[in-house]
Amino acid sequence: MLRSKLCQITFLRSLKGRVFLILLIVGLIPCFIMRYAILRNYERRAVTVRTSDISTQVRILANHLITYHYLQDTSSEVINAELEQLSNLYDGRVLIINADLRIVKDTYGISEGKTMISEEVIRCLRGKSANRYDRENGYIEMTIPITETLGAELPVGSGESVDVVRGVMLVSASNDSIIATMDSLNRQAVVVESIVGVLIFVVTLLMSKFLFSPFKKIIQALDQVQEGYTNDPISVTDCLETEHIGDAFNRVLGRMKMLDDSRQEFVSNVSHELRTPITSMKVLADSLITQKDVPLEVYQEFMGDIAAEIEREDKIINDLLSLVKMDRKSADLNISEVDVNALVELIMRRLRPIAMRRDIQLVYESIRPVTAEVDEVKLTLALSNLVENAIKYNKEHGFVKVTLDADHQFFTVQVADSGVGIPEDELEHIYERFYRVDKSRSREIGGTGLGLSITKSVILMHRGSVKVASIEGEGTDFTVKIPLKYILV
Ligand code: ADP
Repeated sequence: MLRSKLCQITFLRSLKGRVFLILLIVGLIPCFIMRYAILRNYERRAVTVRTSDISTQVRILANHLITYHYLQDTSSEVINAELEQLSNLYDGRVLIINADLRIVKDTYGISEGKTMISEEVIRCLRGKSANRYDRENGYIEMTIPITETLGAELPVGSGESVDVVRGVMLVSASNDSIIATMDSLNRQAVVVESIVGVLIFVVTLLMSKFLFSPFKKIIQALDQVQEGYTNDPISVTDCLETEHIGDAFNRVLGRMKMLDDSRQEFVSNVSHELRTPITSMKVLADSLITQKDVPLEVYQEFMGDIAAEIEREDKIINDLLSLVKMDRKSADLNISEVDVNALVELIMRRLRPIAMRRDIQLVYESIRPVTAEVDEVKLTLALSNLVENAIKYNKEHGFVKVTLDADHQFFTVQVADSGVGIPEDELEHIYERFYRVDKSRSREIGGTGLGLSITKSVILMHRGSVKVASIEGEGTDFTVKIPLKYILV
């Protein structure tokens, strides 16, 4: 869905556009990731260093506050100067809160005398310092206890000294300098990213020249073929891909030419075959018309010949119609479960009178009962053609043997005869339309040259195969193999 939508965007439908997009993604995404990682890393480190700096300064100052009793008397100039210096240095605010939560000093001078009740301050009075980085507003907040060590004058190790929290120093320091540095880093990264973007654009343009020019050539070559300037095979050897496209196109072109040739040959064959009986009829009719007082016997004989030619024309047209039906996609098979034994028996029964006329023995051997998913009408036509040929191209007093067998996947119908046989070099042509080994003989016995093409089409439609073996003068053996279950593709 998304892919089809993307493909609708003209830019993305071109190979150039896709390459540009891929290079842009491959080139810029690492830049974005690096920028993000560098900035975050710098920020973390800078905040840690600044927090530790402030903490050291504030702890030293906290000791001074005790020494100068600042919590009781805030008039000490030394301490006030130090506080001023600290707040200037870190561009921040310092609040000094005594144990009663009263603000005794505010470097901004606005909250002195007020009471400060906050969780951090109360926790700090219990001895726990804390610091917090407010990223959104860009400052570091820190609470540090002001502790007095009682009993410090006693000898070291006597274990009598105790730390008592007398107040809290609350410091807010601005992070503007860190943010300014990050802004500057960010700007530089954006410049680098823009340069990468421009480079990618230039590379895509250059690539399109070298990479896509073979494709342009092949399109030009295809256009020339289409417009009919040339019939030569296409050859663009600039790169393997275009060579493959050219080869594939040449193959398609070759096949199209072959199809066109065979179509033309078929049309000329059809015209020729249809014209032959008409020419005969015209000759017969003309001779009847031009002769005066034609004897009745001659008249009857000629009319009989004309009727035979009409019958022949009718057979050719019927065979052609069958073939055309096979060729069309709509020639869907009408598949049903068919008793193949009964089907072959019926064919034999129908053709027996023709065989008897030439004293040809028709033998049917059924090895096992067979039911298969086939198109009954079409398969009857296909097998009838084989048995009919075996009779037609047989010798007087010969035989035709039809054998039906099956395994768990296929059934086979073998049609063997003791006829004239087919020369080896003709075997590969017998399924071609209008192909006849012995034209005059075939026509004499009413062949159209279409029977085996119809048979082969039907068998292929059933996903089966047909094989032929023949010895000239001894006989021919056709074997048809068809799946018992129809295979849907
Ligand atoms: P036709 O209508 O001429 O019989 P087919 O397509 O059925 O056309 O057969 C093509 C040619 O193959 C025939 O003209 C014939 O020469 C040869 N042929 C087919 N079956 C046999 C066979 N059983 N024995 C000898 N020749 C055969």
